[in-house]
Amino acid sequence: MSQPDRHCEVVSQLVEKAATAMQLDPQVKELLREPIRTLTVSVSVKMDDGTVKVFRGFRCQHNDVLGPFKGGIRFHPEANEDEVKALAALMTYKCALVGLPFGGAKGGVLCDPSQLSAGELERLSRGFIRAITPIIGPEQDIPAPDMNTNAKIMGWFVDEYAHIRGAYQPGIVTGKPIALGGSKGRTEATGRGVMYVIREAASAFGRQLQGATVAIQGFGNVGNYAAKFLHDQGCKIIAVADVFGGVYNPAGIDPYQLKEHEVKTGSVKGFPGTQPISSDELLVMECDILIPAALGNQLTAKNARDVKCKWVVEAANGPTTLEADQILQEKGVLVVPDILANAGGVTASYFEWVQNNYSYYWSEEEVNERLEKIMANAFHEVYDAFSNREGLDLRVAAYMVALERLATAMQARGWIAG
Ligand code: NAD
Repeated sequence: MSQPDRHCEVVSQLVEKAATAMQLDPQVKELLREPIRTLTVSVSVKMDDGTVKVFRGFRCQHNDVLGPFKGGIRFHPEANEDEVKALAALMTYKCALVGLPFGGAKGGVLCDPSQLSAGELERLSRGFIRAITPIIGPEQDIPAPDMNTNAKIMGWFVDEYAHIRGAYQPGIVTGKPIALGGSKGRTEATGRGVMYVIREAASAFGRQLQGATVAIQGFGNVGNYAAKFLHDQGCKIIAVADVFGGVYNPAGIDPYQLKEHEVKTGSVKGFPGTQPISSDELLVMECDILIPAALGNQLTAKNARDVKCKWVVEAANGPTTLEADQILQEKGVLVVPDILANAGGVTASYFEWVQNNYSYYWSEEEVNERLEKIMANAFHEVYDAFSNREGLDLRVAAYMVALERLATAMQARGWIAG
């Protein structure tokens, strides 16, 4: 199997495991096997030096049985169709799992944003949204930020879409600046959701959060807030790494002070009172909870046997390979899967879209309260499926919950015989 085919193959295997465990109607699997639509576009951009460059991009819409397609757009030199398709499918399962009325989608543009001027980035962003306009809309497909895209780019998307449609529709994207209808609490939501899931898991499995040691790979949007919220719950953050290096202190690291240090210096490296640790060392260090919150494929067949934590909580998308997953299960390490652990982000995006539809905006307390309810509920649905059946892990249980919801909707819409 060639490497580019790997991402979709991994998702298919996860679905297969859950489908077998729950004896899923094969028609449902068939309908989820391929995305409903993938649009490939070429976006021409006038560069600052007067030349024209053409950028390739995709928007993949996996399945919309539960509602409009939903998913981020990433700008990355290695973005590829297979990865975008697999991530779109993950969004279908994530939205179904937490009970959001959304389907799954993802987009990607092959570019290196660090090599573009601000003007070039804006022209590329506007060009991409123009190119995919025929298949998006607030009731059709709602993009959001992903790798290397942010609130500012979402602002350009909203503006360009308003020009095309001749009407201002903020619900066309989520993850917008608050001034354009973004939701309070959205920035912190993924990290906050990670904490809610860990808190519920601790209570379900009879563990104490007070004093539990935590190691986090990645100190960006997700890792930094997860660290802060877990610290507030009494956990001891003993190690953090970013792309430049990591820090370790068995007595605990204050994530608020660490963030200040990172803002000042550009990295967590060199935070006073800590010892250096590499990202690879962090993944196999002794701790209660390991949180990969950076990249995919970090726990692999190579390092999984050396993992010494009790729990892996997947804040990143796809940080554990299938082989590593198997090894961790054999070692008795509990893995809280990505589609559950990091679903706080898309849940807050859903809140943003609801507020845009109503043109009525909630306080941050309201957002957090609703997020807590949805995340706790999702955890307990997965936990119930997990505890009611021998031999399941939380990942298979999570896919079972999602597939059950998708199957019910497919039947209700007459997509499958029932
Ligand atoms: P981000 O770009 O804000 O932060 C990424 C962090 O990872 C940075 O601290 C970076 O230095 C670090 N990093 C990169 N390479 C590393 C390496 N080799 N070793 C150690 N650290 C490394 O990204 P984010 O928004 O925090 O997203 C992190 C992960 O969470 C991604 O997998 C993303 O798909 C997933 N996710 C994000 C959200 C969200 O709302 N932001 C929602 C769901 C899932």
